[in-house]
Amino acid sequence: MSNVIVIGGGASGMMAAYSAAVSGHKVTVLERNEKCGKKIYITGKGRCNITNACDYEEFFEKVVSNPKFMYSAFYSLTNTGLMELFEGELGLPLKVERGKRVFPVSDKASDVSAALLKGLERYGVVIHCDTFVKELIINDGHVDGVVTDKGTYKGDNVILAAGGKSYPTTGSDGNGYDIAVKAGHTVKDTRPALVPIETVEGWPERIMGLSLKNVRTTFRADGRVIYDELGEMLFTHFGISGPLVITASSYIGSYMKKHKDCHITVTIDCKPALDIKQLDNRILRDFNEKPNVWFRNSLVKLLPAGLTEVVVRMSGIKPDKPVNSITAEERRKLVSLIKGLELNIKGLRGYNEAVITQGGISVNEVDPSTMESKLCKGLYITGEILDLDAVTGGYNLQIAWSTGYLAGISVR
Ligand SMILES: Cc1cc2nc3c(=O)[nH]c(=O)nc-3n(C[C@H](O)[C@H](O)[C@H](O)COP(=O)(O)OP(=O)(O)OC[C@H]3O[C@@H](n4cnc5c(N)ncnc54)[C@H](O)[C@@H]3O)c2cc1C
Repeated sequence: MSNVIVIGGGASGMMAAYSAAVSGHKVTVLERNEKCGKKIYITGKGRCNITNACDYEEFFEKVVSNPKFMYSAFYSLTNTGLMELFEGELGLPLKVERGKRVFPVSDKASDVSAALLKGLERYGVVIHCDTFVKELIINDGHVDGVVTDKGTYKGDNVILAAGGKSYPTTGSDGNGYDIAVKAGHTVKDTRPALVPIETVEGWPERIMGLSLKNVRTTFRADGRVIYDELGEMLFTHFGISGPLVITASSYIGSYMKKHKDCHITVTIDCKPALDIKQLDNRILRDFNEKPNVWFRNSLVKLLPAGLTEVVVRMSGIKPDKPVNSITAEERRKLVSLIKGLELNIKGLRGYNEAVITQGGISVNEVDPSTMESKLCKGLYITGEILDLDAVTGGYNLQIAWSTGYLAGISVR
């Protein structure tokens, strides 16, 4: 049995503390906030999308950075293993929703933290909140404890689970990287990911708040498709957001990292269920039903009001033109606009709005079968602080849970 210190009482740190304590170790969690799991509270819009009930192979497809590094960790605590743990020993009933997203039945993210804290209490884990870890104590290549703003803690093993840089008000502001760098680790370029997108064009601001369901977005980087999906998006005062956009931002961020001066666009197909011919027929039918109506009032059945205004303006057709005098050529242009509204991407929003941080501590410096640092014995590194990230859907928390769990069962 050894003394284990966990830096950070987030998802990964709490899971690491739990599995280390269940394995019989004496565990102390040091958390800078007044309570543990502050970020968990805001996950899944306050409902916590705890994991995804996907097939195992699919999980690795959803991990954007370094999926192979995740093999051992994931198989030490799979998504189904996690669900069994929460529903069984931790007493939290779960449900599976659309897209195999898993949530607590109560729809309360706070219940996820509470269940974990109860588990930690049961196994005698000591939690010291309002305690900020400043650095590691390392002697002869082995970690011996940590220095905090409240004094020194001695330990045989330290698990660093201090998170990334996104939503810094939750406590993860990137200081954990400095702790690792002092121990010799390398931090790969960090950047905000799963984040809204700014557009060059200003027109999204005119329809901010408008959400489009069942649209197709195709993101192209230098002309090559990098993300193409059906779903929901939202217009904002700076550009676009919503589930499709947030997911696309991960691919855009990766591309931008490799191609500094790239040109990225998004094409929005507002009517993906209709092909060009079908949409043209549909418009023609509407025009024929009310031949004298003005063009600007003719699309009400087809598009939401705000979007109609944008499309009418872009079409170049006079808004007060009666629809019976609209030419076939003008209609062709209108159809292609509705099937392909284009926006140029200016960039991604910052850490304050990013669901996760891409980049982080190089996984080449961490043993994937234990999460132990290859540079400092007794130091384990887990969760978002590592150069690991996935798309939305519960996969990022699964990364935090699995890596934390593996570190906890691996400490000696
Ligand atoms: C708005 C939002 C919604 C999200 N929704 C989901 C979702 O529904 N599903 C999903 O899978 N993922 C979601 N995520 C991502 C998910 O929350 C993270 O991937 C996950 O929390 C990472 O866990 P972690 O333990 O590695 O880091 P964190 O949760 O960030 O925990 C790190 C902890 O370390 C503490 N800490 C930092 N430095 C120190 C220090 N020096 N000393 C002491 N303590 C320190 C911090 O205070 C913090 O409590 C969401 C993220 C955000 C921002």
